[in-house]
Amino acid sequence: MAQTDLLFESPAAPPRDVVPVVVPVALDQAYSYRVPRGVTVRPGTIVEVPLGTRAVTGVVWDDEPGGETVGHNRLKPIAAVHDAPPLGETIRRFVDWVARYYMMPRGMVLRMVLRSPEALEPEAPIRGVRLVGAPPERLTPARRRVLEALVDGLAWSRLGLAAQAGVSVSVVDGLIDCGTLETVELRAGRPADIPEPDYGRLALTDDQQAAAEDLTATVAAGGFKVVLIDGVTGSGKTEVYFEAIAAAVKAGRQALVLLPEIALTAEFTDRFAARFGAKPEEWHSDVSAKGRARTWRGVATGEVRCVIGARSALFLPFRDLGLVVVDEEHDGAYKQDEGVVYHARDMAVVRGRLGGFPVVLASATPSIESRVNADQGRYRRLVLPARVGGARLPEISAIDLRQKTLPRGRAIAPRLQTAIDEAIGRGEQALLFLNRRGYAPLTLCRSCGHRFECPNCSTWLVEHRFRGVLACHHCGHTERRPDACPSCGDVDSLTACGPGVERVAEEAAVLFPEARRLVLSSDMPGGTKRLKDELGAIAKGEFDLVIGTQLVAKGHNFPKMTVVGVVDADLGLAHGDPRAAEKTFQLLQQVTGRAGRAGGDARGFLQTHAPDHPVMKAIIAGDRERFYAAEIDERRRAFMPPFSRLAAVIVSADERDPALAAARDLAGAIPPADAIRVLGPAEAPIAVMRGRHRLRFLVIASRQADLQGYLASWLLGRRWGKGGVKIQIDIDPQSF
Ligand code: ADP
Ligand code: ZN
Repeated sequence: MAQTDLLFESPAAPPRDVVPVVVPVALDQAYSYRVPRGVTVRPGTIVEVPLGTRAVTGVVWDDEPGGETVGHNRLKPIAAVHDAPPLGETIRRFVDWVARYYMMPRGMVLRMVLRSPEALEPEAPIRGVRLVGAPPERLTPARRRVLEALVDGLAWSRLGLAAQAGVSVSVVDGLIDCGTLETVELRAGRPADIPEPDYGRLALTDDQQAAAEDLTATVAAGGFKVVLIDGVTGSGKTEVYFEAIAAAVKAGRQALVLLPEIALTAEFTDRFAARFGAKPEEWHSDVSAKGRARTWRGVATGEVRCVIGARSALFLPFRDLGLVVVDEEHDGAYKQDEGVVYHARDMAVVRGRLGGFPVVLASATPSIESRVNADQGRYRRLVLPARVGGARLPEISAIDLRQKTLPRGRAIAPRLQTAIDEAIGRGEQALLFLNRRGYAPLTLCRSCGHRFECPNCSTWLVEHRFRGVLACHHCGHTERRPDACPSCGDVDSLTACGPGVERVAEEAAVLFPEARRLVLSSDMPGGTKRLKDELGAIAKGEFDLVIGTQLVAKGHNFPKMTVVGVVDADLGLAHGDPRAAEKTFQLLQQVTGRAGRAGGDARGFLQTHAPDHPVMKAIIAGDRERFYAAEIDERRRAFMPPFSRLAAVIVSADERDPALAAARDLAGAIPPADAIRVLGPAEAPIAVMRGRHRLRFLVIASRQADLQGYLASWLLGRRWGKGGVKIQIDIDPQSF
C-alpha cells in the first residue's frame, strides 16, 4: 500500500473532518463534504454524497485543503460509505493526469473508473460447500455421488449439491459432520481463475526465446519501461508477450492485455486459457453488468490477476497492476472520440509511468509514433523478423487498374478471379477485401443528377441493399430507398455509384457460384454473437470465399487462407489526412497478412490506380523499413507528429452563423506564442455532423511547448458560449 493511502489514518495526521470529494459529473473541482462523527474515510474511499437534490457516488480525493469557503456547519455531510475497496493512489493520479492532458473535467474521467455501479452494491455472501478432508471410510454410493458432483472441490450450496447428486441433503450434511466437506462463504459469481505461469508454454523459436528473455527480465526487474514488439504477421508476438504476463503473475502482480476488437476475439481467450490453464476476465461492452461488477471488484481486491479488455479496461481500479500489453498498438480503435476523448495506447504508457511498471506494445505495423520513440531510444524495440514454423509471407502484386484491367461495371479483375478460382480448387480459402460497408457509397439519379444527402450531416447516404435502406455512416440516419427519384420523379433512374462490400458480394456470386461464400461486415444483422460465430467458421474452413470489410483484416488466424484480394487499395489514400499513408500501409499489410499463416504459397493482390505510390511499392517489395524511413522523413519535414504536437479545436452550433461568429471571435483572441501556430478556422472535414455546423482550428506546437497551458489561456471561460455554441478540444487528433 502506498504511503499516502495511510496518511489520514496515521496518528500524526488525524482524520480530517472535511474532505474533498470528486463526483462523476462534468466538473473539475472537488467538493468539500463533512465527515460524520464515527465515520473514517481516506483518499480513495468511495462515498455517497448529496449533490443538489441528487445523491451521487463520488470518491474522496487528496487535493490540498483550501477554497473551502463554506463554514463547517453549512457543509453537507457524506451520506454513506460504500463497502468497496478504495481507489488506490495510482489510479487517482491517473485520473488527475488524463483530465489535465485531455483538458477534460476530472469528474468525467472519474466516471470512466466508476463504470460498474453494480460493483459498489454490497454483496450478499453465499454459503457454499468446500472439500477439505479425505473421503470418509464409509463411502456409500450416495456419498460418492456427492463428491463427484463437486466442481473443483466446490459447490454453491448444500441444497444445490444434493440436487446435483440426486441425494437428500442429509447425505451432504453427513459429509460435513465427518469433516470431508465444510461450509464456506463464497462471493457471488464465479470465483476468479488463477493463471499458472508455466502451464502450457510452447517451445519457443530462437527469435521468440531471445525476445521473451529480454522481456521477462524487464518485467521481473519492475519499474517503468516501454517495450515495442515489432514482428511481422504470424511471427508469434502473442507467445512472446504471454511470457511477460507469466513473469508478472510470478511476481504476484496483475496484468492487463488491451485488444482493439476484443468482442470478436473469442479465439484469443481460448489461446490464453490454453497457455495459462485459466480463462482471463474479459472487459468490454458485451460483458453483462454482473460480469463487469465481478471483474471490477476482483481487480480492486486483487483476486483477479489477468484481464483482457477493450480500451476502457485501462480505467479499471487494479490493486497492483504490474504490466499492460497493448496488442495491435497501431490500431485506430484505441482512440476514443466521444465523451472523454483519449488514446488508450498513449494512456497505457502514462499508467505504466505512474504505476512504475513496464508496458508492452505489440504490432506487425507499429505506429510511426512508437517507431520513432524506439529509434530515439525511449522505447526498447524487440524484432521478430520471420513467421513461426517457416511459413512465408505472402507474395504481393499490384493489379494496375489504369490498364483497363477491369471489365465494365466489374470490381474484380480477371487475374484476381483466376487466383481465387485456383485457391478454391486446391481446397484453400480466399478473401476479397473492401473497406467500405454497404452496397454503394453514392446513389445518383441518371435523369436529373439528384444525389441522396444526409439531412443531418454533409455526407452522401450509402445504399445498403441488404436492408433496403440508404444510411448515413456518421449519424446513423436511415431512409427507405425510393423507387422513383424524389427530385424529378423518374422511375428506375437511380444508379449506384462505386462499389461497397455488398456489391462485391453480388459480383462474387456471379463469378464463383459454386463457392461457399460469406459476407462479413459489422452492419449485418445478428450483432457480435453472429460475427464471432462466423469468424470461427472461417477459421475452421467452412467457407471458401470471404468478402469482408476491415473486420476481417485484424489479428485473426485463418489457417486455410492463401489468397487475399484488395478490391480498392487506394481507398484510404484519398484523404488529405497526414496519417493517410501510414493508415493505408497498416491496413494493407494487416489484411494481406491474413494469407499463408499456416504455410504454403500465399498471394496478395492490390487493385490500384497508383502502383507507384510509396505505400504500394513498400507492400509489394515487402520493404517495410523503407516505408518507415520515408514516412518518418516526411513527418519531420512537414513538422507533423511525432515531431510536433497537434490539437484540434472544433467550434459547433446548430446554425452556421453562430458557429462562424464564435470561430471569428476565437480567431481574434489567438494568443501569440513562439512555438505554437494556429491554423483556421476552416470547415471541419465533415462540415455538418448530426445537425451541427462545425468549424475547426488546428493547433501545431513544438514538442516542448505547453500546449494545454496555451489552449487554456486561449479558450478558458469560452468553452460554453452563447447561441448553443460548443467548443471541443481534441488533443492528438488521429485524423483531420
Ligand atoms: P502474431 O501475433 O505475431 O501474428 P501469433 O502469436 O498469433 O503471431 O502466432 C502465429 C501462429 O503461430 C499461431 O497460430 C500460434 O499459435 C503459432 N505459434 C506461435 N509461436 C509458436 C511456437 N513457438 N511453436 C508453435 N507454434 C507457434
Ligand atoms: Zn448523417
